[in-house]
Amino acid sequence: MKCTKCGGKAVVPIKRHNAAFCAEHFFEYFENQVERAIKEHRMFRRGDKILVAVSGGKDSLAVWDVLLRMGYEAHGLYIDLGIGEYSQRSKEKVLKFAEQRGATLRVVSIEEEFGLGTPEFARKAGRPACSACGLNKRYLFNREALRGGYDVIVTGHNLDDEAATLLGNILNWNVGYLARQSPVLEATAPNLVKKAKPLYRLTEREIASYCVLRGIDYIVEECPMAKGAKSIEYKYLLNQLEELSPGAKARFFFGFLEKGRPHFEAEQEKVEVRPCQVCGQPTTAEVCAHCRMLQRVGAAAAP
Ligand code: SF4
Ligand SMILES: [Zn+2]
Ligand SMILES: [Zn+2]
Repeated sequence: MKCTKCGGKAVVPIKRHNAAFCAEHFFEYFENQVERAIKEHRMFRRGDKILVAVSGGKDSLAVWDVLLRMGYEAHGLYIDLGIGEYSQRSKEKVLKFAEQRGATLRVVSIEEEFGLGTPEFARKAGRPACSACGLNKRYLFNREALRGGYDVIVTGHNLDDEAATLLGNILNWNVGYLARQSPVLEATAPNLVKKAKPLYRLTEREIASYCVLRGIDYIVEECPMAKGAKSIEYKYLLNQLEELSPGAKARFFFGFLEKGRPHFEAEQEKVEVRPCQVCGQPTTAEVCAHCRMLQRVGAAAAP
């Protein structure tokens, strides 16, 4: 297998582009895809302050790494979810990554913030773990970005994640989600920070190759609470399809962004957003879903 660019020995095949690259040209390809995502969706500009939500997994460390290499001012935010050894190991990876690069890292702990680790917290909240965890993370990402004066929050979502979410939203016809699924979510309300996904053009496999070739040490195991998640089944199905028809995932998601999403967006009714009476973050209710969940956990924890 030869590199499509230089004819040298290729190390990463990319079937959907009918290409293969040596390490040097794979890095170039990778950065080009990130650059294209940033420009096409006006994610951020040079000089913007970027907060990267890092979990210790390959995607978030890869996006942090590539943004630092490209010269962006990118700081990390690690949320310690209090999920036993998984959280300990992932935190170690993130601390090491930041230390090696002399990068700025903010750390927030769910236990310190709300008095309980994620599994216990979710039980008290009467919600599935991922639903409680998702609300906590969204709230803390936004709060930390506001406190630190960041222009944008970056997450490591990749093409596989986005295609799987899209498949789930279509199978269930979640019209509201279809209108909002995008590589960039603008700050449409006061106290809301813009969100961006610069890796949405790259697959999980490409990101794993990037980490291996760059020597990025990431946590390989999945969060133990993710077991049985529908997204895992959707990813499996999409991978089967990709095997039969290379490029299917990209056509599915990029085609949706270009031709499908505008229809759903146009159908969407404008909802009124206002500051939560408790925390001030934007919500469509008097009190936001996160504050309501905290009230419930507080009530459940009371003797
Ligand atoms: S799998 Fe669920 S519990 Fe684990 S980090 Fe993701 S959202 Fe949180
Ligand atoms: Zn090459
Ligand atoms: Zn609130």
